[in-house]
Amino acid sequence: MIEFKNVSKTYATGTEAVHNANFKIEKGDFAFLVGASGSGKSTLIKLILKEEDPTDGSLIINGRDTTFLKPKRVPYLRRSMGVVFQDFRLLPDKTVYENVAFAMNIVKATPKHIRRQVPMVLSLVGLSNKSKVYPHELSGGEQQRVALARALVNNPSMIIADEPTGNLDPDTAWEIMTLLNEINLRGTTIVIATHAKDVVDKMKKRVIEIENGNIVRDDRKGGYSSEI
Ligand code: ADP
Repeated sequence: MIEFKNVSKTYATGTEAVHNANFKIEKGDFAFLVGASGSGKSTLIKLILKEEDPTDGSLIINGRDTTFLKPKRVPYLRRSMGVVFQDFRLLPDKTVYENVAFAMNIVKATPKHIRRQVPMVLSLVGLSNKSKVYPHELSGGEQQRVALARALVNNPSMIIADEPTGNLDPDTAWEIMTLLNEINLRGTTIVIATHAKDVVDKMKKRVIEIENGNIVRDDRKGGYSSEI
């Protein structure tokens, strides 16, 4: 669960990227954050990831107010989130299997748990047959599937994605969204910041729209634009 309570964020430059945001994303929700470039989407994502702190208000994640969270607790907060980016961010000199296993090494999972869990998530994203190849040997869509497997491998309660289909052609973008939908149906909360109008319209999920730092719309089954 993610709750923004009167959250504002002004950067050191004086730019107010988010102004008095109030919304709640419940456990199991699937929500798009949409808006023009520069409207504040990435700032909302960075606040959720606690890469940035609010200048005002409070942000509650999984029942805990993160506003005054001690720095040493931040890694534990992040473990509840799987993160996916536009540019995949895979390690180029590691195989698909190793890229996913790496995320488990970081949290000091046991070798036995790693051997069991990695094949399971690779199968979930449809890449069981690619475990030994390197990222450059994969298509963009496949690379994003690996990134999704890596995001899922530690069983996060939510997936946070910033423009996850930004580098993909429309068919591949749709495949990734379909996969995210399947993951959501298994109970994982999904939050996606995106420009991808066609995909948002087709998915008919919750749409939270930000415009110049203000939340201007929150539709339960929305399209990218309010007139749809
Ligand atoms: P979006 O993701 O919708 O493109 P951003 O959240 O990246 O929007 O940016 C919102 C506003 O905040 C923009 O005016 C942008 O220039 C500004 N901004 C973003 N990051 C920073 C930063 N680190 N320092 C100063 N201003 C920033």
